[in-house]
Amino acid sequence: MENNHECIICGNGYYACNKCNKINSWRRYVDTPSCYQLYLIIEEYMHEVISKVEARKLLANIGITSETLKKKDYKESVYNVLADITNLKNSTINKKTK
Ligand SMILES: [Zn+2]
Repeated sequence: MENNHECIICGNGYYACNKCNKINSWRRYVDTPSCYQLYLIIEEYMHEVISKVEARKLLANIGITSETLKKKDYKESVYNVLADITNLKNSTINKKTK
């Protein structure tokens, strides 16, 4: 079977049956359930369904932190979002009020 899709998270090529898309719709975008989990977290974060702090917690739950995040494992745009979420230095929690 030839690869006819590219995972929008990790960039891996994979094969997914186009006729099966109605049943397994996530296979249209990502190659594995773990990429799908990531995809959901990023989507929710991008649409402001969850905050950066919540997104960071969810990522930590699936083993992704600033220490484990590897650029080569993801597409650049995805990596940039993950780096932003997991970067504690850029945290918006520490709002300084006078
Ligand atoms: Zn993937």
